[in-house]
Amino acid sequence: MLETLRRIVQDVSAAPDLPSALAITVNRIRDAMRVAACTVYLADEDNREYVLMATAGLNPQAVGRVRLNRQQGLIGLVAERQEPLNLPDAPHHPRFHPVCEVCEESYHAFLGVPLIQYRRVLGVLIIQDTATRQFQPAEVDFLVTIAAQLASTLNHAILSGATQELLNPLITGNRALQGVAGAPGVAIGTVTIPHLLADLDDVPDRPATDPAAEIAAFQAAIAAVEQELRAASDRLAPLLPPTEQALFTVYRMMLSSDSLLTDTRTRMEAGCWAPAAWRDAIQSRIRLLEQAEDPYLSARAEDIRDLGRRVLNHLRAGPAQLPELAAEHCILVAEEMSVAHLAAVPPDRLAGIVCLRGSALSHVALLARAMGIPAVMGLGDRPLGRFEGSSIIVDGYQGRVYLNPDPALREEYQQLLAAEAELTVELQELRNLPAITCDGHRIPLYVKAGLLTDIAAAQDCGAEGVGLYRTEFAFMVRESFPSEDEQCDIYRQMLASFTPQPVVMRTLDIGGDKTLPYFKIEENNPFLGWRGMRFTLDHPDLFLTQLRAMLRANAGLNNLRILFPMITTVEEVDEALRLLERAHQELQEEGWPAARPEVGVMIEIPSAVWQAGQLARRVDFLSVGTNDLTQYMLAVDRDNARVAGLYDNLHPAMLKAITHIIAEGHQAERPVNLCGEMAADPGAAVLLLGMGVDSLSAGTVSVPRVKWAIRSFTLDGARNLAQQAMTLDTTAQVRRLINDALRQAGLGEIVRESA
Ligand code: PEP
Ligand code: MG
Repeated sequence: MLETLRRIVQDVSAAPDLPSALAITVNRIRDAMRVAACTVYLADEDNREYVLMATAGLNPQAVGRVRLNRQQGLIGLVAERQEPLNLPDAPHHPRFHPVCEVCEESYHAFLGVPLIQYRRVLGVLIIQDTATRQFQPAEVDFLVTIAAQLASTLNHAILSGATQELLNPLITGNRALQGVAGAPGVAIGTVTIPHLLADLDDVPDRPATDPAAEIAAFQAAIAAVEQELRAASDRLAPLLPPTEQALFTVYRMMLSSDSLLTDTRTRMEAGCWAPAAWRDAIQSRIRLLEQAEDPYLSARAEDIRDLGRRVLNHLRAGPAQLPELAAEHCILVAEEMSVAHLAAVPPDRLAGIVCLRGSALSHVALLARAMGIPAVMGLGDRPLGRFEGSSIIVDGYQGRVYLNPDPALREEYQQLLAAEAELTVELQELRNLPAITCDGHRIPLYVKAGLLTDIAAAQDCGAEGVGLYRTEFAFMVRESFPSEDEQCDIYRQMLASFTPQPVVMRTLDIGGDKTLPYFKIEENNPFLGWRGMRFTLDHPDLFLTQLRAMLRANAGLNNLRILFPMITTVEEVDEALRLLERAHQELQEEGWPAARPEVGVMIEIPSAVWQAGQLARRVDFLSVGTNDLTQYMLAVDRDNARVAGLYDNLHPAMLKAITHIIAEGHQAERPVNLCGEMAADPGAAVLLLGMGVDSLSAGTVSVPRVKWAIRSFTLDGARNLAQQAMTLDTTAQVRRLINDALRQAGLGEIVRESA
């Protein structure tokens, strides 16, 4: 049996794609176990169904067509129980569900085992026989062992998107694609693929309107790169040793390779536009080379990739121009999205964001929230690139996306949009009113911003200043570090737009998922690596430039407050303050009328929670960054959709940590602000008010909602809520408590059912 198992596993791993792997599995199992049929059902999580995906013995026409809902039949039972089900006479079992396409009535013996990986049931593997008999323990063990192997193969296929393509080849209509709620709101628009073709992976699928023009553009690009390589080789010839010079010859040979050119041409003739035809031809060669065991050959994959980029660069500039963004309501769809992608679309056309990777706490999601744009994250690998120009609904509350929705569903969402707009208009009435409880306790409510484009919305939302301006976003949309003057201009605009209201500017917080295109940081654990203050203290040149730019921008306005991110130790604060002092002194010596602004420290790392008192005494205020604090407290990567279910800032441990920070801050007579996303959740905001926080910072869309919540409670009511919350054991209990309180206060419309 072991040998049979080894051979099956070997053959399955050598299969070129998932359908072949499944077909090999069922055929080989049926033969090895000498049974009448072997079948695999896969879970379609979007639609809560099990789909028959491969069979040896049942009607082959049923493949991809038979769909059972989760409660149906013995398949549902195996998945539900998550253990093998061994029945001598299946048709007599009360859960047996006859399916006419497969005519299983003549099969009596049934053995089903679940395919489980990381606690998720990915499908069910079954064998059936005509005799009425119980399968032997050795047979059960064999099937269970194969199932474990198959589950791991399937998991890879899920991660690579292969199962999605198989289960939902069209993925359109009213079938929801489930992701993670990124930024609240609903949007209806047109799939728009960002046009930053910097890399082959960024090239969207798109049909060629004029194949002859595409071919001509492609030939011109190849000729241009050839010319470029020849010139480079001539230029460098005297400087390079012969071995290195040979590289140019290799490149030119690759570029003139008949098979590469013909392959690309065939794809264009079949109707594909040049960049995608080139991408596919290059990527198929990269894959082959990467699989090679010879290290010389596998290293050539990088050369091919580089060549691919060079040609792509010319294609971008050539006649194969990218179409203008035609849609009025663009829904940007990309695998990973950078701030540059967002900035490439005019803000008045950007209606929604769909990102295949990332989670609610990825910085793109935060930016989307700050800009009031609905977003769905972490959809997984789906071939959405093919749907450019299709109609799409983004449901940022439930983390769902619908491609080419039918008119009834569209209408339903139109109504939701209208209700949303109505609530927003109603809440506009609160614009000029303070965030004050029914019994007169006032709490400053600030807005968060990241780009200058946010200014108008931020000014209009009824906040009392900016509680967090993330300066790194201005760095992320450029091609090099901005100079002191450039930074000063940006900061000045921000400060001038809000004066005399305060603007809290956070010093550069890159690292983690915020990388600069011109300063890549490659690390195994970027969230535990060179982030925020750790980076800037290692680059005092960049830090001093930024501090000088901030202080200069503040001259005569005096509404600047500076905030240091990612503080782990008191020494970091001492050093950052020393550099601030130096920048201040330098400017004074240069004759700038620079006032010394208030300075704060972000508490977003557990070590800072437990030293909040010592940190507070060194500065003027604390600001709690619950986005990172939750990530580090719960050990949940804020950017990983797979563990997004665990990420919740209402975790009782978080409530205890925040209470501690507030107490320490107050003991040191320093105010405590909260600028994480928790402050944007109206229920949580009331809870934080009751816990004693001094001010809150939320996104533009959330400010009116949070204000409404605060104005609907008394301070005593909020304190009571906080006291009750502190006695609870689970996040779900805290969420329920808050939701009940919101409903009782008449705020049912903004209740968040889950975190
Ligand atoms: C936080 O961590 O809560 C925070 C506000 O900072 P960012 O989300 O930018 O890391
Ligand atoms: Mg943070």
